[in-house]
Amino acid sequence: MGIDDDVFDRQKRIQGWNQQKVSSARILVVGGGALGNEVVKLLLQLGASDITIVDHDAIVKANLNRCIFFTEKDAEEKALKAEVLAREAKKINANANVKAVVKMIELVDEGFFGNFDYCFGCLDNLAARMHLNAHAYGKMPFIDGGINAFNGRVQTVKAPSPCLECGFSKADYKILWKKYSCVGETLDFLDPKMPALATSACITASLQVNEFLKLLHGVGETLEGKFLFYDGLHGEFKTLTLEKKKGCAVHG
Ligand SMILES: [Zn+2]
Repeated sequence: MGIDDDVFDRQKRIQGWNQQKVSSARILVVGGGALGNEVVKLLLQLGASDITIVDHDAIVKANLNRCIFFTEKDAEEKALKAEVLAREAKKINANANVKAVVKMIELVDEGFFGNFDYCFGCLDNLAARMHLNAHAYGKMPFIDGGINAFNGRVQTVKAPSPCLECGFSKADYKILWKKYSCVGETLDFLDPKMPALATSACITASLQVNEFLKLLHGVGETLEGKFLFYDGLHGEFKTLTLEKKKGCAVHG
């Protein structure tokens, strides 16, 4: 095979790259909206081949400005996000095993979380994010993302580093939250019907998948125990180091 005949030739040129590890990682993507579309797209481009998408929602027209895999026809047919994502993803990599689970993450069996090596939070509500945080902790790295208008944020949770809930009471966190959120006091970073942009989704999803690559290869510095804010209006990134909260409900 010539160097131009291998789909992954250029990334394999990165020192320490392990394509086998990328393709065999068992990946859970929770949320099939803007971030889910972008995360799945990137994972497939990288050659990930074992992806499970969990989402219970149907596609609506208001999703189409930031979800590359969805069409007007899907919205008219009220097709399910997870199923369309899984179907369309196979067009990028026909050999990939992409499964759809049409359920709220809160309703999957406890044992479900033991089937994966990595999980992505691509969610739009705090309750689901908290649920995933609690069930992933100690089992697999959890790479959470959120968007709001021109802003995004990413946190990587990998035991024993602080979890999502650890960050919730920190004063700094709240100040940053106010600074970077258009909605001030609102704690949920991406409520349903929050302002959302394809550009912020793209950048945030890229940062999430980049975390996965670093964790997988054991290179660089990940966002474990840190919180990364992206301010798209000013072109700034700000990283906040979190502290592990004593008596946190997730890990005590
Ligand atoms: Zn915690």
